[in-house]
Amino acid sequence: MTVAQNIAELRQRITRAAHAAHRHPEEITLVCVSKYVDADLIRQAYDAGVRDFGENYAQGLRDKARELSQLPGIRWHFIGGLQRNKVKYTTGTTHLIHSVHSAALVQEIDRRAAAAGLTQDVLVQLNLAGEATKSGITAEELSPLLESFASCDNCRCVGLMTMPPFFDDPQRAAPYFTRLRELRDQHTSGEHKGVALQHLSMGMSGDFEAAIECGATLIRVGTSIFGPR
Ligand SMILES: *Cc1c(COP(=O)(O)O)cnc(C)c1O
Repeated sequence: MTVAQNIAELRQRITRAAHAAHRHPEEITLVCVSKYVDADLIRQAYDAGVRDFGENYAQGLRDKARELSQLPGIRWHFIGGLQRNKVKYTTGTTHLIHSVHSAALVQEIDRRAAAAGLTQDVLVQLNLAGEATKSGITAEELSPLLESFASCDNCRCVGLMTMPPFFDDPQRAAPYFTRLRELRDQHTSGEHKGVALQHLSMGMSGDFEAAIECGATLIRVGTSIFGPR
């Protein structure tokens, strides 16, 4: 199977899952996770119509964004563990940072974005199962973190992201997806300055259909497009 064939098949599955959930497929953006592949394969996905690409290493994102900067409309998403000293590589080059998990990161992104004269959109990452190997905040920490956007003029929170534990049966991930949607719905627009929660980034190769059923607006898919590492 080629990258283009995999993407065509994936789009059919996205459409089917959206219709099963009485949603419009256009509400769901496919973020093609390109962390293990080089520019050649990214170009193949771009030629198949993908515009959103996700990377989880800050320097990797910067380098690929430079190499592919001539592709019109390409958008980069940072989905990896974010550290303060890496914010300089991701702010500005990135359409959306999915993995914000502290007020210190919010401040640093705001500072870098202000210096570059732009507004950086971000998502707050939740670690709902409390897994030690994953970053992200608990549900209890969400309100105070959203509060921290009030002092920002150049960093905006536009949604939430999560990565549930791995299950063989994707339906077992559904409660985590539902929980993320509930948290978004609880923090309605206007409650916090600088916060307008529209997006839910959830669902990967193994469980994106369950995530779409639960309201995902951004799915992050690598293996189903490029094959296993
Ligand atoms: C690698 C990665 C993905 C993609 O996972 P696949 O199972 O390859 O689709 C999604 N989200 C994050 C945060 C990742 O690191």
